[in-house]
Amino acid sequence: MKNGVGTSGLILDEPLLWEKGKKGRKGMSIPHSDVPQAPLDEELTGTPVDFPDLSEVDVVRHYTRLSQWNFGVDSGMYPLGSCTMKYNPKINEKQAATPQLAAAHPMLDDQYSQGVLQIMYELQNYLADITGLDAVSLQPAAGAHGELTGMLIFNAYHQSHDSKRTKILIPDTAHGTNPASAALCGYRAIALKSNENGMLDAADVRELMDEETAGIMLTNPNTLGLFEGQVRQIADIVHAKGGLVYGDGANMNAVLGVADMKKCGVDVLHLNLHKTFSTPHGGGGPGAGPVCVTKELEPFLPVPRAWKDGDIYRLEQDRKDSIGRVHGFHGNFGVLVRAYSYILSMGAEGLRKASQLAVLNANYIREQLKDTFHLPYPQPCMHECVFSDQLQKDYKVTTLDMAKRLIDYGFHPPTIYFPLIVHGAIMIEPTETECKEDIDQFIATMKEIAREAKEEPDKLRNAPQISKVRRLDEVQAARCPCLTGPTLPAEQ
Ligand SMILES: *Cc1c(COP(=O)(O)O)cnc(C)c1O
Repeated sequence: MKNGVGTSGLILDEPLLWEKGKKGRKGMSIPHSDVPQAPLDEELTGTPVDFPDLSEVDVVRHYTRLSQWNFGVDSGMYPLGSCTMKYNPKINEKQAATPQLAAAHPMLDDQYSQGVLQIMYELQNYLADITGLDAVSLQPAAGAHGELTGMLIFNAYHQSHDSKRTKILIPDTAHGTNPASAALCGYRAIALKSNENGMLDAADVRELMDEETAGIMLTNPNTLGLFEGQVRQIADIVHAKGGLVYGDGANMNAVLGVADMKKCGVDVLHLNLHKTFSTPHGGGGPGAGPVCVTKELEPFLPVPRAWKDGDIYRLEQDRKDSIGRVHGFHGNFGVLVRAYSYILSMGAEGLRKASQLAVLNANYIREQLKDTFHLPYPQPCMHECVFSDQLQKDYKVTTLDMAKRLIDYGFHPPTIYFPLIVHGAIMIEPTETECKEDIDQFIATMKEIAREAKEEPDKLRNAPQISKVRRLDEVQAARCPCLTGPTLPAEQ
């Protein structure tokens, strides 16, 4: 486009629609009127809005080009560890868009919402089955929101036992939302160190757990992609002191139909429907973080919940011990429909198979790359594997450089610098939806990047070359977010 000569195919300097518009262009053609014009009521016209004049093709190309600046699971492999960026079957989108569901009004009386309530009721039961827990709330809007709900349930439970507890144990591999959710609820987070195998030690929990501690928040499999081998002993220690066990179930994609969280000793668990159960994410939502609990904690669950009264489905509005509402109306219902549709289309066998393939794919990558990148915890992993940049350090190449270089090769970078206990972490989660050919291509690319690190390190330091933007000032972006285009016309 520059100097008016040719394009590279991908057009990365698309102007704003306001800059692109030309007076008199139209987005549609209407036949000439054969009746006299009638004046429009002045009250209806108001001040004209400054919209640009554009043709249909102007608009279609504009948005198509913008969409190509981004990367999504529909454009390629997106191995962002812990985030489960897997392909979401389009059939689930279609189901969520069913007019009777998409347009269902949340204030309709139960008798006119039977289909909606049946979906919610059955989804609650499926999620209980999948996790092994007894009762489910579909209300929370995200994983972190589920954690907060869980902490409120912890608090309500301890209050009901006249027990005042101020602390909570959180492993050093936990997602940052865990201590944040606990703190929001007034708990002081006590860090629990992982051992040399990247796992929790029951002995450490025994030492720290006391009767002022509300319980523990653990992630299983943890964020190193390792299944916590001592989870049951840990739960027993916490329970013996009157505490509760919170399970961060964001990594449930690894263990669907394999691990029973209740048998692991978990009392409260959140799921990320937008990771494991087919809602596209990455753009900031909407999502859903249902909370599953044991029978004992059911009275504290948020309202409303769907329940079945004979043949009629109802939305329960009130329960004496409930922590109350955590979301308006039915929760993020569109996300619930996707999860319901996904679970029904996969079936129990399909879900188990998905987890098995997710684990197989991650172990394949771990095996293939273990001689190229340093593997701080070398044992077999679950659905994700964590490398570090230790072998590339000598060439003054960092994890960030390698991640940026992957963009030039058409892959989304993995999660980097997390979990915090691995210096220069590269956390790869391929998910079950990648085929062997694509995974092999990813592995070959990672090996090529390792070669470049040694022989042509500047290629990495200057990456990415082909993206819309190069290296961003992430601190500036977080501190001074600019949420509008700088050249938008001033408000009138
Ligand atoms: C994603 C994630 C969360 C938070 O979930 P959100 O929906 O982003 O709030 C919590 N814990 C783990 C382990 C996660 O991967």
